[in-house]
Amino acid sequence: MASKKVVDVRSGPPMHWVGDGFPVSSVLSPGSTGTALSPFVLMDYAGPARFGPADRPRGVDSHPHRGFETVTVVYKGELEHRDTAGNRGSIGPGDVQWMTAASGVLHEEKHSAAFTRAGGELEMAQLWVNLPAAHKMDPPRYQELRDAGIPRVELAGGAGHVRVIAGAWGKTAGAARTVTAVVLWDVSLRAGASVELPVMEGHNAAVFVRSGAVRVAGTHSAGARRLAVLSREGAGTTVTAEEDAELLVIGGEPIDEPMVAYGPFVMNTPEEIQRAIADVRSGKFGEL
Ligand code: MN
Repeated sequence: MASKKVVDVRSGPPMHWVGDGFPVSSVLSPGSTGTALSPFVLMDYAGPARFGPADRPRGVDSHPHRGFETVTVVYKGELEHRDTAGNRGSIGPGDVQWMTAASGVLHEEKHSAAFTRAGGELEMAQLWVNLPAAHKMDPPRYQELRDAGIPRVELAGGAGHVRVIAGAWGKTAGAARTVTAVVLWDVSLRAGASVELPVMEGHNAAVFVRSGAVRVAGTHSAGARRLAVLSREGAGTTVTAEEDAELLVIGGEPIDEPMVAYGPFVMNTPEEIQRAIADVRSGKFGEL
């Protein structure tokens, strides 16, 4: 079977602020990408940015989500979260928070108290993973994946390593429970080394370069903060590091349903969006 090909190498738009805590570039968004990278709806990459010490935690106040999952990967800094499903916690470097909003939560996303006091560097990514219609109104679910619990696969010959957050890498299962087949791999690759990504036929996949530079599928170079989008057709693709590189590989089985994304809601129809707005207004999401 043929390998996946690069169909696009793109840059995110200029940075914008999410609340007062997250300077992000929306590498993917419903407006720019639609369902082309389904099940991924959005990818906000934040930083690296330096924050001075402060008295009051920066971030985003209480807001709703329905119809999808928010997945937050922290590389530098520390975040605190609490939601109306009763979950709260802080996540630091290497940790991942996988929040299945499904039928709906209100949550708050802030710099942690310790990070706020001390200041420091923040680097993180937040991904929005769509849910199929059959699971959009499931009860919310929360997975806190600590760095130590995320399987790490060493690549042969000291080429680097892979942190298997979701989706199997060979015989190594990902740490996250997912609703549909989702891939999320953190890959570190030494300059000159190559790796074959085991991305599946018929699945979407893309390689985001956090740092360094790589050549993908032998045809396209991608430097820092670029996203190389792969074809659905084909299985596997080769990535070669042109310099030491850190990558976030995303992918999975496309959800072949209509998608209507509006603000913090991702549903199948405009009527369901209206319902979500009405449910927040009438207090059905609870109160934080
Ligand atoms: Mn949120």
